[in-house]
Amino acid sequence: LLRVEGVWKTYHAHPVLRGVDLDVAAHEVVCLIGASGSGKSTLLRCMNVLETVDDGAIFLEDDDITDPGTDPDQVRKRIGMVFQSYNLFPHMSVLDNITLAPVRVHKRPKAQATDQAHELLKRFGLADKAGEYPDRLSGGQQQRVAIIRAMATKPSLLLLDEVTSALDPELVTEVMGIIRELKESGMTMILATHEMGFARDIADTVCFLHDGVLLERGPAEQIFEDPTEPRTREFLRRVL
Ligand code: ATP
Ligand code: MG
Repeated sequence: LLRVEGVWKTYHAHPVLRGVDLDVAAHEVVCLIGASGSGKSTLLRCMNVLETVDDGAIFLEDDDITDPGTDPDQVRKRIGMVFQSYNLFPHMSVLDNITLAPVRVHKRPKAQATDQAHELLKRFGLADKAGEYPDRLSGGQQQRVAIIRAMATKPSLLLLDEVTSALDPELVTEVMGIIRELKESGMTMILATHEMGFARDIADTVCFLHDGVLLERGPAEQIFEDPTEPRTREFLRRVL
């Protein structure tokens, strides 16, 4: 579904991604792990065309989304992204937050978008929050709304960057629950996370980034139980 080929990204002469290759199959869940500053967010931002790449290419199905002629909005119709800070529009109700992109960007009829939003809210246990404004919701609820909002455009790939990092521990589980349910429904996802337990539990494939290099990738069980690279071992020893 997504193929990253030899991607380089440099900020002010400082290489942040150094030739990253990554293949993601449909329905696969990939977790990016690695120390702070290793390039996880930058890689996700390149996939969503929030950054341009300096070298290499990223293909979504057969389309080169790093081609300068690519319209970022067309890519973002197919790839949803959720950030650590939920970025909900504070002046809009939960319902309006969710229906905005389907109506404005995807030109879906408002009634259809509204029905679908109610359906998603119900599915993820927020049916009674449709009319609320974001500041009246808990952090966990806001993050669930942000994920629902990303799902409302029916993307074929969902990128999640540290979506539980800003949450109190007791709220983390509810957000993890929704991600687990999305996995069960077959959603293809790439997550950057510091929650190793969650990565191990949800990932089909774990990728370890070190200083902008994808040093090791493998099935979650192998990476956590028997990593090949000394640096992966060292990182896991520090964080587990
Ligand atoms: P964390 O776990 O803390 O979220 P990360 O793995 O997501 O870290 P990135 O945010 O991708 O790391 O950052 C990788 C490196 O790129 C860091 O050294 C960071 O300072 C640098 N960097 C990221 N964005 C920019 C930018 N817009 N301008 C300059 N440098 C940047
Ligand atoms: Mg990051």
